Amino acid sequence: MPGEIDYSKINIIPDQDTAEWWEGTKRHKFLVRQCKQCGHKWFPPFPACAKCTSMDLTWYETAGKGVIHSYVVVTQPILAAFVTAVPYVVGLIELDDCHEADGRLTRVAGVMKDDEAEVAIGLPVEVVFEPTGDPNFIMPRWKICGTASNTWKFTE
Ligand SMILES: [Zn+2]
Repeated sequence: MPGEIDYSKINIIPDQDTAEWWEGTKRHKFLVRQCKQCGHKWFPPFPACAKCTSMDLTWYETAGKGVIHSYVVVTQPILAAFVTAVPYVVGLIELDDCHEADGRLTRVAGVMKDDEAEVAIGLPVEVVFEPTGDPNFIMPRWKICGTASNTWKFTE
């Protein structure tokens, strides 16, 4: 398991695009932006739909489940908060319930709870909500929640 993230060294400042998203994480909901005009979903929550340019938006509450599409292993911490966490894996998660009829899908990046040895492309994962020490912020992390018959790992 990766080391702990020192959230006291991260200064989270919600803005008009992310404030409701952070409210969602406090209620253990993983939200993505959704366009009211065409239904397209995306993350992170920027203020206009990339498919139809509408700014008439809502939130879609995902089930917080997906599949590892890719991943990177971070061994050199860039931020002080991650000095005690390295090495850790950042997964690119393809959300199960955000596949659209035209083939578009939503992928989110997140820090995994699992070590590199456990992570593989194709494995199912689910979100977990981690306290940060600040009651105003709950951080979503991702962890492996099952097995898959066809997985792939990076090799050195
Ligand atoms: Zn749209």
